[in-house]
Amino acid sequence: MFEGLSDKLSNILNSLTRRGALTEEDVNAALREVRRALLEADVALEVVRSFTDKVRTRAVGAEVIKSVSPGQQVVKIVHDQLVDMLGAQAEVIDLNAAPPVGILMVGLQGSGKTTTTAKIAKRLTDREKRKVLLASLDTRRPAAMEQLAVLGKQVGVDTLPIVAGQSAVQIARRAMEAARLGGYDVVMLDTAGRVTVDEGLMMEAAEVKAATNPHEVLLVADALTGQDAVNTARAFDQRLGVTGIVLTRMDGDARGGAALSMRAVTGKPIKLVGTGEKVDALEEFHPSRVANRILG
Ligand code: GDP
Repeated sequence: MFEGLSDKLSNILNSLTRRGALTEEDVNAALREVRRALLEADVALEVVRSFTDKVRTRAVGAEVIKSVSPGQQVVKIVHDQLVDMLGAQAEVIDLNAAPPVGILMVGLQGSGKTTTTAKIAKRLTDREKRKVLLASLDTRRPAAMEQLAVLGKQVGVDTLPIVAGQSAVQIARRAMEAARLGGYDVVMLDTAGRVTVDEGLMMEAAEVKAATNPHEVLLVADALTGQDAVNTARAFDQRLGVTGIVLTRMDGDARGGAALSMRAVTGKPIKLVGTGEKVDALEEFHPSRVANRILG
């Protein structure tokens, strides 16, 4: 049976540590287990390294508190450091700009981008009473455009009528104009996805961004992507200036390491979490819950 990190650390440290301060030897023994737990949770290697360095600094020399065991104390330090790095507070989508507020949705194909676009539109409509317009910019995949129209109908949100032959930038401009004329509060632009990060994809999204000046650029990323999450997040952020991340498929087996990896390399907040295929399956990001999940 899987033994949680908490138990492992207790076993190691309770035999090592005399009462007093945590020694470097104690902490290093504990960090070997922490490292293993993070890698099992699919945290990227470079992030594991910087994480364990921070924990070491925090833990070595810390006085052992009488009421808890050294193991419990290190678990608390590790947990607190995880929460710090995940972003201690939940962040929300920022609509604080002159309407229509643009939200650019970016991410790899299959990450859940289109579904997430509809989920967010539903949330903004139902909870915040905003009038939202959706537009698909995936000119190469008519099925993707159709999918957004179907989802829009399902959640009761308007989608921009499809006009054949227009480029992504032309559609995006048309969406902003339609929103202005139609009195919409928010325009969500669902960009095309590719299976891997490539130059054409980035160029097109960058052009759309330049033409529409969106207030949010949300990167949709699959929690199951594991070690790749870092490279994906870094590439999108460097080219497009991501303002927030939405992590999908947190209903699955993912331990959530991708959350820590992406947050650490981009410094951008995780704003929402996808927890299923249904249009309601979207939740706020709770750093402490994800920290527990990563620790196992
Ligand atoms: P896109 O290519 O990035 O636009 O991806 P889609 O939005 O078409 O989603 C791909 C598949 O993932 C669909 O079957 C979605 O229902 C599913 N999906 C999206 N988000 C989630 C999620 O949070 N959890 C689960 N289990 N499935 C999801």
